[in-house]
Amino acid sequence: MIKKVGVVGAGTMGSGIAALVASAGIPVVLLDIPGKEDRNEHAKRGLERALKARPAAFMDPERARYVEIGNTEDDLEKLKDCDWVVEAIIEKPEPKQALYARLEGLLKPTAIVSSNTSGIPMRILLEGRSEGFRRRFLGTHFFNPPRYLHLLELIPTPETDPKVLEEIRRFGERILGKGTVLAKDSPGFIANRLGVYGMVQAMRLMEKHGLTIDEVDALTGSLLGRPNSATFRTADLTGLDVLKMVAEELSEATGEDFRLPEWFYKMVEQGRLGDKTGGGFYKKENGERFTLDYTTFEYRPQRKLELPELAALKDRPLEERLKGALNLPGKYGAFLKELFARTVHYTVTKAPEIAYDLLAVDQALEWGFGWEEGPFKNMDALGLDYVRQAFKEFGLEEPAWTRGKARFYQDGQYLGFDGAYHPVPKRPDVIQLKSLKREGKVLYSAKEASILDLGDGVLLLEFHSKMNAIGEGVLRTLEKALRMVEEGEYLGLVIGNEDPRAFSAGANLALILSLAQEGEWDELRRATYFFQQATKAIRYSPFPVVVAPFGLTLGGGAEFTLHADHVQAHAELYIGLVEAGVGLLPAGGGTKEMLLRFTQELSGYAQADLFEGVRRAFELIATAKVATSALEAKKFGFLRDRDDITMNRDFLIADAKRKVLELAVDYRPPLPPRITVLGDEALGNLKYAVWQFREAGEITDHEVRIGQEIAWVLSGGGGPRREVSEDFLLELEREAFLRLLGTRKTQERIAHTLKTGKPLRN
Ligand code: NAD
Repeated sequence: MIKKVGVVGAGTMGSGIAALVASAGIPVVLLDIPGKEDRNEHAKRGLERALKARPAAFMDPERARYVEIGNTEDDLEKLKDCDWVVEAIIEKPEPKQALYARLEGLLKPTAIVSSNTSGIPMRILLEGRSEGFRRRFLGTHFFNPPRYLHLLELIPTPETDPKVLEEIRRFGERILGKGTVLAKDSPGFIANRLGVYGMVQAMRLMEKHGLTIDEVDALTGSLLGRPNSATFRTADLTGLDVLKMVAEELSEATGEDFRLPEWFYKMVEQGRLGDKTGGGFYKKENGERFTLDYTTFEYRPQRKLELPELAALKDRPLEERLKGALNLPGKYGAFLKELFARTVHYTVTKAPEIAYDLLAVDQALEWGFGWEEGPFKNMDALGLDYVRQAFKEFGLEEPAWTRGKARFYQDGQYLGFDGAYHPVPKRPDVIQLKSLKREGKVLYSAKEASILDLGDGVLLLEFHSKMNAIGEGVLRTLEKALRMVEEGEYLGLVIGNEDPRAFSAGANLALILSLAQEGEWDELRRATYFFQQATKAIRYSPFPVVVAPFGLTLGGGAEFTLHADHVQAHAELYIGLVEAGVGLLPAGGGTKEMLLRFTQELSGYAQADLFEGVRRAFELIATAKVATSALEAKKFGFLRDRDDITMNRDFLIADAKRKVLELAVDYRPPLPPRITVLGDEALGNLKYAVWQFREAGEITDHEVRIGQEIAWVLSGGGGPRREVSEDFLLELEREAFLRLLGTRKTQERIAHTLKTGKPLRN
């Protein structure tokens, strides 16, 4: 069991790894070389850098308490009780070897040591080490930034004890939440080797086919199922100096040609390194983006490539996009076809050298570079006949292991490098909705949501509307799912989905706005009531309902989460009741729920100031506060202490299912609570606070109005201090919601947000 981790080297990677380990709730010792005046200055600076990093390196800055800093001269002893020591120091063999020599005599005999090197062969790092040390050593290659990049490449040597590898894999996957992939000890491992090759080809072929940087980025991003940062935005983010260095190292280590075009080196010489120097392939001035013309070295206003063919492909499934991309007219299609042929040829040829199986190659590119599907899946989508044809066209020879084969994946098997098919290993902790659908486990499907059978008596409600917005279709499917569980004698329900970004962006605002503009107030009142009944049903159904939120979980999505019997949240959770941003308040039980949570929490203490709880709920809702991790969501009160966090998104649905089974054993639904409201006393105080903000010029008149409506609900509509029912507060929510929706300014806010995705402060 790994209970304490050491990280040596507090630079970019070491400090990021330490922040991730601490975020996971594991104590970590972070060491760097001694400083001149302050002996710990380097480690201290690393920790500070992690605390300042944006996006944040820590999931909760308070977790920095888990990090103990020191220097490698005075404090090496602090590593004595660490179960795993990660080395992330300067990329040179000698200092790394010297460090291991010192660690060898010091660490406990069971401690594991790993290197974060991105390219030095393990056998060189291990020179001079004992057999015992070698058994407990491997490469652990994190990507920058460690919190956000899902991939962790593990590089065992022939001497690594399989138990050591298994322990690091388990810890990496479950505790740190990474997608682990086994790589061979070859230069650049898997992701960088293939990724950098693709980047070099894209730059060379851009020149050859006479394309611009804007054009290449339009063609190599989401069209191919890759991030929007495509080729050149990615390079700007990585840094051109880093790319240059990695490409040079790869050339040297492999003897292959990773040379970038001449103008690339000129850019590096001129210090145009990307975002860190304020400009690279792109630069921003006064909010406008400019693109480099690599033939003249001048920046020109960005010119996005507009082709009717691209627009038509935009929202199509990946397979269609890929086929469409390679058939684009003229130089665009020609560029993509050659890029595709050369990069997949390289992949197919090198895969046996760099990986143990093709699964790892697909995963490395999906997890490391955010590809929707890895290269072997891409090739299957296009058909291997097409791929062979493309090889032929560019004079590329097909490697032996794929010859005569029709697919890389078929019937739950994959093609091994030995030319035979092998079963894709089952991962018992992972439930993939995609596979369940293939296996016919969909019990009901509507346009916006479906009901799936997760097995063992557990059903799942999946949203699949745009941004997983919650509208009537989702609510009706929820109703149906709850009925199915009850009537079909299932044990419980999970609410979750597999969208890459959003659990749910909230209620369907477009619909709400159009009903308001048409004056359909009865319909709106009915819809709001229906939403509230849905969140109530989540809580009071006679079986457990576990909600599994991740990513964007806003407004109505947050209200679903708040009403779960149990929340199984992904660590990367961006949850908030953001209704005030569009001039509304949470009316799916969210306002009621925060009041209940914060006052109930306090009512256990004699003499507690209940207004403190009311104020806390008010602040959260009126400022539309969003937590930026599940840990922060606990702090803000969106998650309760008893709710659980899953670090690795791949395990989320299976964890939620397990929780349903656990709760189902002796489940009894809660009793509807009585809630103490403070009436006029709270209303007066909150209104006064709102007024002060207005006086200070911090909020607009309409925001005063929004604040007052929130205050009205949270104080139980004024009057004396008393106990009220949940339904009473829900009615106040509905009334206040409809009043705000009736105002011109709220409608303007909604329209603006729908159009731009941004809030309007009117
Ligand atoms: P960095 O230069 O940001 O940090 C290295 C740190 O190590 C510095 O704080 C330095 O003071 C310290 N250091 C140097 N020699 C030391 C020694 N003998 N003992 C203790 N501390 C020492 O480098 P980085 O980018 O964090 O890279 C660290 C390692 O991770 C390298 O092996 C690198 O190849 C690898 N890596 C880097 C990235 C990346 O994107 N930066 C990604 C994956 C892997």
